[in-house]
Amino acid sequence: MSARVSLIPVSEYSPQALSRGLSEALAPFGGISAIVKPGDRVLLKVNLLAPARPEEAVTTHPEVVRAMIRLLKDASASRILVGDGPGVGSTAENMRICGIQAVCDEEGAQTAVFQETTVYENLENAIGKHLELTTHLRDVDVVISLPKLKTHVQMGYTGALKNQYGLIPGSQKGVYHFRLQDRDLLADLMIDINRTAGVKLAVMDAIVGMEGPGPHGGSPRKIGALVVSTDLSALDVVCCHLIGLSPESYPLLRAAKRGNFGTTELSEIEVCGGKIEDLRVSDYKLVNAPINIMKILPLPQCVLRWLRRQVAPTPWIDRSKCVKCMKCHNGCPVKPEAAINPKRENGPCVDGMTCIRCYCCHEFCPVDAIELRKPWAERIFHLTAIGAFGSRLLGKIAGFFIAK
Ligand code: SF4
Ligand code: SF4
Repeated sequence: MSARVSLIPVSEYSPQALSRGLSEALAPFGGISAIVKPGDRVLLKVNLLAPARPEEAVTTHPEVVRAMIRLLKDASASRILVGDGPGVGSTAENMRICGIQAVCDEEGAQTAVFQETTVYENLENAIGKHLELTTHLRDVDVVISLPKLKTHVQMGYTGALKNQYGLIPGSQKGVYHFRLQDRDLLADLMIDINRTAGVKLAVMDAIVGMEGPGPHGGSPRKIGALVVSTDLSALDVVCCHLIGLSPESYPLLRAAKRGNFGTTELSEIEVCGGKIEDLRVSDYKLVNAPINIMKILPLPQCVLRWLRRQVAPTPWIDRSKCVKCMKCHNGCPVKPEAAINPKRENGPCVDGMTCIRCYCCHEFCPVDAIELRKPWAERIFHLTAIGAFGSRLLGKIAGFFIAK
């Protein structure tokens, strides 16, 4: 076994349940004192995706943050920062609405706004050898990630590895979405961010996760677990199994495998505490993330782009719900004219030719007015399912020959 993951049944967000769950989860790693030394400055990287109440399961639950802050105070951390670089809303607004600001005030932790950036060099990275990330990384000794288990319309799932994408301040994420339209390249970048940030521990809030069209528009779903590890890839493998998602279908775990970042095989992971079989949610509503058809067909780029448009879902604005806040338009990475225009004279629309299917608009919409509609080819031929099966089969065949 090369990695250890604690999977602890925790059924509610009470301080007692969380405190017991955390100390049980950290025991196999030598407790918090093995990770945080007296005097250390610690950054808690939470998920603050959008202004949402705790029960909406969009953000890390404030009571998980409180339990972690108390543990850090017991470990005599000298400074505790709590932050994220949300794509929707502002750090201050999101923290207030999701309850994390109140917890920080009550527990004496500081909130961190990820506005200023510093360029960090890591020559081991695949594509982001010089990454512009929050300056707060430079000013702390330990980074601890506190993700929320959710489905994700672009990547399929969001958890421990993806949580560090928020180290890029909100508005700058669009640049990467535009430059790296291939999901696998974007996943490579996210692994680069993790390698650069050097997160020491991740504590996954999987007590209530999100299913359906996450990470913002889905529904809360009880899973009943805290999942903890020093190996973020291994943690995501266990969480994928908890919700019935194949880890091989998750672009970030494929990127972690390519980049030799952490443990990506369940057979190499020691699961401590509970059993995956006991906590698995068999009918978790997953999203069919669009396949990267470019990877499996040897065709010219222009044909592949056209094909992708026939397969990948297209955003569609429900006029009866749209409040014309323009968050989707402002956050769309297609520039100078956004691919989405909620105020168009003859009705809101998405330009299917320029839209790169990044689904940022779906993530940004505060009233869930954006649906992702399957194109006709996908509806008739189910190409996503066929493609996912094909790429899994190719992966198995390649694995067989590599093993030989
Ligand atoms: S319209 Fe939506 S999915 Fe299309 S490029 Fe803009 S933000 Fe991305
Ligand atoms: S679709 Fe959503 S994000 Fe876009 S303008 Fe309407 S309400 Fe705002």
